[in-house]
Amino acid sequence: MTDFLPFTRPTIDEETIAAVVAVLRSGWITSGPRVAEFERALADYVGGGRQVRVMTSATGGLEMALKAFGVGAGDEVIVPAMSFAASANVVERLGARAVFVDVELRSRNITAASVEAAITPRTRAVMPVHYSGLAVDMDGILELATRHRLRVLEDAAHAIGTRYRGRLIGSFGDVASFSFHANKNMTTIEGGALTFADPALALPLDRERFHGITKDAAGNVDVYSAGGKYNLTDVAAAVGIGQLRRLEQFNARRRELAAHYYARLAPRVPSDMLPQDGEGHSWHMYAVLVPFAGLGTTRDAFIAAMRERGIGLGIHYPSIPRLTYYRGRGWDPTAFPNADRIGAETVTLPLFPAMSLADVDRVCDALLDLTKL
Ligand SMILES: *Cc1c(COP(=O)(O)O)cnc(C)c1O
Repeated sequence: MTDFLPFTRPTIDEETIAAVVAVLRSGWITSGPRVAEFERALADYVGGGRQVRVMTSATGGLEMALKAFGVGAGDEVIVPAMSFAASANVVERLGARAVFVDVELRSRNITAASVEAAITPRTRAVMPVHYSGLAVDMDGILELATRHRLRVLEDAAHAIGTRYRGRLIGSFGDVASFSFHANKNMTTIEGGALTFADPALALPLDRERFHGITKDAAGNVDVYSAGGKYNLTDVAAAVGIGQLRRLEQFNARRRELAAHYYARLAPRVPSDMLPQDGEGHSWHMYAVLVPFAGLGTTRDAFIAAMRERGIGLGIHYPSIPRLTYYRGRGWDPTAFPNADRIGAETVTLPLFPAMSLADVDRVCDALLDLTKL
């Protein structure tokens, strides 16, 4: 009996575990020196002279950034129809409207052309999502945003270590929000980071992150806004420092595993089924499209059959306009045919740094056998 192969699993080394224990023994366990060290390490890694703020989640980071932009009631933010629901939820939570655009079928990413068609006088920002770690074509989006005076908030939850034309995501552009959720390319268990260059964002973000508080030179506390509570702990930051040290190695291994998936699957399945590769891809996920209806089966049955063989699959993601809340907001999911097809046909195959090439073979053998492709 072989071990169960989950679709993802974090790799935490002994040095990181020891660093966590040291923080727990230090007498200071919430935000402190390790958070400051983690922010410096992230700024050094990403480059581009960016400011970095870490927080309890990428979702919190996206919401804080939109708030710092002044997005609120009556505003619109353009969001891909294919992403995790958080990308749109953060917009709606501020009383603004998430306006969906369809994605390309193989990259699962938005394009400048699709965004431009959705711009109205109420549009305040656009949120590119670098799906699975493949960079959106940012040159077009940034040019469009400058022309229309829009903010650009990258949902970079999948994209720590992703490069676009040789530059790391988060080292250029307006604001990027990374996730360090346990399933992402690096983790702080739960956590996230914003990178940005605009100095005008630092104060509103710092206040929003911690109760609206600013201290004067003598250390007296005053509250300038009804801020939130999104600060990361030193325990979590110690995990993040250990993860960041190995990120390039993790992502190199992810690329090797993805290359092996291509080598096994490309000769056998229609090219539409496989995700788009690209320069600088960080391979957060390897998600394929399976035409379940055409094969006379369902995704539920396929996932159950793979599980029988000891292989766990994920679904990333349902089309957002198809979710009950967004249908209730008046969206017709059939208006986003690529996102709708991806939502119906996508399955995420196992991909994480501790996997072997033999694990990839096992997944491919099971997939090809069950689908008869
Ligand atoms: C994981 C994820 C998020 C949310 O990240 P958290 O850190 O869990 O808040 C947002 N967007 C996308 C695309 C994600 O995959």
